[in-house]
Amino acid sequence: MERLWAPWRLEYIERADEQDGCVFCRAAEGDDEEHLVVHRGAHAFVLLNKFPYASGHLLVTPYRHGVNFPELDEAEALEIHRLGAAGIAALTAAYAPEGFNLGWNVGRNAGAGIVDHGHMHVVPRWRGDTNFMPVLADVKVIPEHLAETRRRIAEAWER
Ligand SMILES: [Zn+2]
Repeated sequence: MERLWAPWRLEYIERADEQDGCVFCRAAEGDDEEHLVVHRGAHAFVLLNKFPYASGHLLVTPYRHGVNFPELDEAEALEIHRLGAAGIAALTAAYAPEGFNLGWNVGRNAGAGIVDHGHMHVVPRWRGDTNFMPVLADVKVIPEHLAETRRRIAEAWER
């Protein structure tokens, strides 16, 4: 898969070495803008993927560390479903994509970059982009700055 140069991605990789622990747990406890959080629920929250396949590639994740799709409790499963639906609505308002893929990677061999803190991908799709499998299992960077994308989706969420 073609990899495009993106300065914020380099910045993230450089800073990743200095940070301990799980990126989702840091985002759960940290600042929305710094961690690209677009919406918070009671049991789960929504943030931008720092390695997006497309503009607006969202991740919906429980606050709880150490669970993936099979281990979600009732409240987490329901809210993650609802946040996925609300994410589709917000992305439709912000970007008007032509479709979506939603999915989970369970286990490193399935393509999960972070295996200890499960998360659902919500990926907007447009005619002419690539097939479903590389969407969830590989990395492709798009040329829109993530801070601007986060602001746009967070505003669309409030409408
Ligand atoms: Zn975590």
